[in-house]
Amino acid sequence: MPENSDYRLIWDEAINQIKEEISEQEFLAWFNLNFLEANENSFIVEVPSSFYKDQIERRFRTYIEAKIEELIGKKITITLEVKPRAPEKNNQKGEIGTNNEIPPVQAGRVSNERAASSGNSPEKAKKSPLYPLRAEYVFDTYVIGENNNFAVNVAKAIASNPGTNYNPFLIYGGVGLGKTHLMQAIGNYIYENSNNKVICVTGESFTNEFIASIKDTERVKAAFKNKYRHVDVLLIDDIHFFQGKRGIQEELFYTFEALSGAKKQMVFTCDRPPSELKDFNERLQSRVKSGINIDLQPPNYETRCAILKKKSEIINIYLSDEVISFISQNISTNVRDLEVTLPKLKGYIEVSGKPITVEIARELLKDEFVSLKPSNISIEIIQKVVAERYHLSQNDLKGKKKNQSVVFPRQLAMYIMREITEYTTTEIGQAFGGRDHTTTMHSCSKIEEKLKVEPSLESIIQGLIREIKDSSIKS
Ligand code: ADP
Ligand code: MG
Repeated sequence: MPENSDYRLIWDEAINQIKEEISEQEFLAWFNLNFLEANENSFIVEVPSSFYKDQIERRFRTYIEAKIEELIGKKITITLEVKPRAPEKNNQKGEIGTNNEIPPVQAGRVSNERAASSGNSPEKAKKSPLYPLRAEYVFDTYVIGENNNFAVNVAKAIASNPGTNYNPFLIYGGVGLGKTHLMQAIGNYIYENSNNKVICVTGESFTNEFIASIKDTERVKAAFKNKYRHVDVLLIDDIHFFQGKRGIQEELFYTFEALSGAKKQMVFTCDRPPSELKDFNERLQSRVKSGINIDLQPPNYETRCAILKKKSEIINIYLSDEVISFISQNISTNVRDLEVTLPKLKGYIEVSGKPITVEIARELLKDEFVSLKPSNISIEIIQKVVAERYHLSQNDLKGKKKNQSVVFPRQLAMYIMREITEYTTTEIGQAFGGRDHTTTMHSCSKIEEKLKVEPSLESIIQGLIREIKDSSIKS
C-alpha cells in the first residue's frame, strides 16, 4: 500500500494539472487546500472555512476526484475538513488567508461567468473547469423553433432529471444545426445545478484517449475505463466518428452497459440516423438508439431571423429587422452558415461606424450567398410556388399562353431559377414547355430591367425565394 507521502505526490500532481487547466484567477481564489492524509479510497484535505467547503464541494470536488482517478486508475472520494487558519500578515494580493473571508472571485462568479453566455470571449470557453463544455452553449442562447422544439423539451427534461427518462438521448442531423450546442446545454445545466459528475467528449478525443491507453500500462488502461464508467452523465459528440473502428466501439459498448446498468444519463450526437451508421457494431447501434432519437431539421425563416437577432445581440451589434430578414432569406442551409455572416457585419460597423443596410449586407455577404446556393431546389418546386402565388396552374406557367398575367410569372420563375439554382439556361428553357435557352435569357433580362424601375419587385422575389427554400427543406 502506498505511503502517505506517495499520496501527497499524487495530490500535488493533480493540483498542478488543474492549475494548468483553469484560469489563474479561479485557481488562486479556490485552490487554497492543504493535503492532510489519504488512503486508497479517500483523500482528506483541509479548507479554511465552511464557505470554502461548500463552494469546493459544489464546483470542484468531482473535478479533483476525476483528476486523481486519472492518475491512480481508481475512484476515490475527497473529504474536506474545515480548519480555520490564523490570519496571515502581509497577505499578498489575490491570496486568501483568513477564515470566513469571501474570496476575490465571489461565490457564484464562476457560474455567472458561464451562465452569462455572452459567447463573446473565447477565453471563457477555456476556463470551463471540468471538461470541454463551452460556456456559451446553454439553453438561454438556444433559440427554439419548430425544427428543434421537441428536442429542446427533451433536453430540458433530461437536464432537470438526468438518468430517469429518455436514456440514452440521441440527437442527429446535418452539420451546423445545433446538435453540439444542445448537448452541451444539457451538460452545462447539470453542472450548474447539481453535483453530478459530467463528462463531455468528442468521438475523436474518446478514440484518441482509448488508443493512447491501450498502448500504455494496465494502470492507464484501467484509468481510462474507470473514467468513463463512473460518471453520472456522459455526453459523446459525433459518434459517427466510431464507424469502422471496432475496438473503440467495443469499449463504448461496455461503457454503455456499465452506465445504463447504473441508470446514468448518456447523450450522443450523430450526423445521420443511427440505422445509417456503417461498419458499426450491431449491439452498440441498438443500444444507442434504444432511448429517444430526435433529428434536428434546418430552421425555417422565422427561426433563422430569431437566431440572427439573438446572436447579433450577443455580439453587441444592431441589425435592423429588414437586414435580418434579408440575410435569413438568403441563407437557409444551417445555423452555422447564418452566424458566420456576423463577424463580417460587425467588422464593417466597427470600421465604418455606419449601420448595416440591406444594400451593404448584400455587398458584404455576396460570396456567402453564392456559395450557399442550395443545390436541392428543384425546378418543379419553383414552378409550383410561383404558380400558386399568381393563382395559375403549373401547366399555364409552362404552356404557350402569352397574356401578361402568365408571361410575367413565367419570366419571374425563370429568373429565380437562374438566381438560386445551378440549372443552365437550356435546362430551364426545356422545363418551360421545351423553350430554348434564348427564351430563358430574354426572361431574365426582362426581370432585371423591371427591377431597376420597380424596386418593390425585389421584396416580392425575396419572398418567393424564401417560400421556395422552405418548401424544398420540408419536401
Ligand atoms: P452541429 O453540432 O449540429 O454541427 P452546432 O451545435 O455546432 O451544430 O451549432 C453550430 C452553431 O450554430 C453554433 O454556434 C450554435 O451555437 C449555433 N446554433 C445552432 N442552433 C442554434 C439555435 N437553435 N439557437 C442558437 N444558436 C444555434
Ligand atoms: Mg457538432
